[in-house]
Amino acid sequence: MNKKKTLALLLSMSMLFSACGGAKTDNKAEDQKEETKVEEATEDATGEGTAKGHNGDIKAVVTFEGDKIAKVDLEHEETEGLGDKAADSLVEKIVANNSVNVDTVSGATVTSTALIEAVKAAIEASGRDVKAFETEAEEKTGETIEKETDVVVIGGGGAGFAAAVSAKEAGADVILLEKLASVGGNTLISGGEYAAPANELQEKEGIEDSKEQFAKDVEEAGGDPELIKVLADHATEDAYWLRDEIGVEWLDSLMFFGGHSVKRSLIPAAHTGNELIKNYLNKSEELGIEVQTEADVKEILAEDGKIAGVRVETADGEMIVKAKSVVIASGGFGANDEMTYEFDNEIDEHVLSTNSPGATGDGILMAEELGADTVDMEKIQLYPICDVETGKLLYCGDTRLVGGALLVNKEGNRFVEELGTRREISMAIKDQTDYVGYLLWDETSNETTGTMASNPQEAESLFERGLMVKADTLEELAEHFDIDKDVLLETVATFNENSAKEEDPEFNLRMLGWQVKDAPFYMMKAAPAVHHTMGGLKINTEAQVLNKDGEWIDGLYAAGEVTGGIHGSNRLGSVAMTDITVFGRIAGENAAANAKK
Ligand SMILES: Cc1cc2nc3c(=O)[nH]c(=O)nc-3n(C[C@H](O)[C@H](O)[C@H](O)COP(=O)(O)OP(=O)(O)OC[C@H]3O[C@@H](n4cnc5c(N)ncnc54)[C@H](O)[C@@H]3O)c2cc1C
Repeated sequence: MNKKKTLALLLSMSMLFSACGGAKTDNKAEDQKEETKVEEATEDATGEGTAKGHNGDIKAVVTFEGDKIAKVDLEHEETEGLGDKAADSLVEKIVANNSVNVDTVSGATVTSTALIEAVKAAIEASGRDVKAFETEAEEKTGETIEKETDVVVIGGGGAGFAAAVSAKEAGADVILLEKLASVGGNTLISGGEYAAPANELQEKEGIEDSKEQFAKDVEEAGGDPELIKVLADHATEDAYWLRDEIGVEWLDSLMFFGGHSVKRSLIPAAHTGNELIKNYLNKSEELGIEVQTEADVKEILAEDGKIAGVRVETADGEMIVKAKSVVIASGGFGANDEMTYEFDNEIDEHVLSTNSPGATGDGILMAEELGADTVDMEKIQLYPICDVETGKLLYCGDTRLVGGALLVNKEGNRFVEELGTRREISMAIKDQTDYVGYLLWDETSNETTGTMASNPQEAESLFERGLMVKADTLEELAEHFDIDKDVLLETVATFNENSAKEEDPEFNLRMLGWQVKDAPFYMMKAAPAVHHTMGGLKINTEAQVLNKDGEWIDGLYAAGEVTGGIHGSNRLGSVAMTDITVFGRIAGENAAANAKK
């Protein structure tokens, strides 16, 4: 029997006793005393509960004042800037409503669900009945709020913040609207690496580079040379703007991404795009930019052929924000299955998504309603080594790129060149049994690469879910994943023999000389996922959105992954950060000037 039930039973027995008239004269006071005693004995002032979140256990300590939740203290390791923000906003709602019946935070469902479970467990542990804390949260007011500003920015990713800060610095009033409960989008979950030609670190290392060389590298994929010229011209000065004006720390080393002719990519502190987002948030606060989350823009309004503002669904109801300039910075459509399947018929339910759940192409669809043109919509980039359950890009799999790793199937055979293009490998994996591949490497490769050590949370989560295994023998790995053991041993032996001779007659692997021979061995299950949508709204070099006649839709600007035309058929690693910053700034400055004219 739970404690609450014991309390109820004791109370009803004492009431029965008094109703039968058998009670002594001062029974009421006695009963009250008794009740208080029982309360004290059965309901604790705090309760503690845990549940499994994204990156491990979430522990909730709930403090009560009588039957009211007074506060919830949390201990967890959810993703900085995303899971932690969602957890804070959920706790606020739970306390405000004295209820666990609150909506999960979109974009952080696993964290939200775990947090609610942990709070429920804490309530139960305190001796209270969870049902008493499952009342309906307050309804939306249904009111329409009206606001007015100079520039509205749709989307709180890197492009949105670059636009908002630049517009504000150009003298405009700005409101930035983000549909999820926390800002950041794909920018936050990215590595944040930024292509900057002829930068200071290259100079120190004696690497020769130029804007022209960078433009040439990007143009290889067939993008618009005019847009690429603007990108290349501003790339490096904008990386310094991020450092000097926004506070982004660039590390002291560079990365070399495929398709670039030289090593030129800057790395943010902690190797994460959150370095940009957290500094942008600080800057926005300092400048007085209104940043509103849970503000889902549903429509871009126009009057007499000019932009007039936006219609927004908020947590409380509807909001109209009137503005002469609107910057669409709502990101790509990599998390919108319907759109990715429609534009690329090789993509289906066996291809997951690495993207933030906010990447649903809203900006493209809303602008199309106003006659906007699009470009390259069918050009979608895939990433081959992703979490088979969540689609998350797996950095532990970078052993493939550095120390060396083999990709095998359930039958124990290799099936593709492990360093082929992202698309080739993705499609090859999709053709295998269960639509997955298994990446295999040894301790030497693990040590040379070092990505497992620098991504401990990812590694732990994969080990815990049995999606990555470490073992002293290849046989154990094969057994765990139910792979044909004998074939696997033969595959590895053949590869080792050939690789020692710098040969790979089967797949012509371009990096040889390494082997799978030093225990412990590692194996990871992986599936492909949509990673970047190169297509989107057609813009000109002023970040103005164009209609099908090539004319500007007066007052409408766009920047970042929502636009198309720059990356052609293949966005090179680290060029998206450059793109969103350069065109975000241009869009913001021009939107401010338009609003003021
Ligand atoms: C895992 C991963 C790693 C990556 N690593 C790198 C890297 O190292 N270097 C690099 O150059 N690129 C990288 N990329 C690509 C890069 O992160 C993105 O292209 C870039 O961040 C897009 O920025 P953005 O501002 O255009 O969109 P986002 O950062 O996605 O922001 C768009 C925002 O708009 C919001 N939004 C959408 N619709 C609405 C609406 N209707 N109303 C209000 N808000 C809305 C979204 O919720 C989101 O917060 C990576 C991508 C991923 C997924």
